[in-house]
Amino acid sequence: MPTLLAGDVMSRRVLVPCGTDTAYSRHRRRGEPACEPCQLAHKAKMREYRQRTRSRPEGERADANARGRAQRRLAAEHPARFAALYVEELARGTAAPGGDRS
Ligand SMILES: [Zn+2]
Repeated sequence: MPTLLAGDVMSRRVLVPCGTDTAYSRHRRRGEPACEPCQLAHKAKMREYRQRTRSRPEGERADANARGRAQRRLAAEHPARFAALYVEELARGTAAPGGDRS
């Protein structure tokens, strides 16, 4: 768990490290060019996404799109919590997410 310093606004957010799709989005949001590790992470993510969605029937794709949009909105509304969860999940490695789909 990151330590939060009282009064230090910048430390309240957990910054996701470069080399992740989330950090790629951060580069883009800031209007700066993404570094190479972030570009690679983003490309890998997009490739994986296309492979996952291409073979899906229409109804399932709509469901996945709605889920993705909901996750992005949730992340935007609770950025610090989302970043903390993201870091936790990264630390867990490549194990499948528990529960909600199978
Ligand atoms: Zn980066």
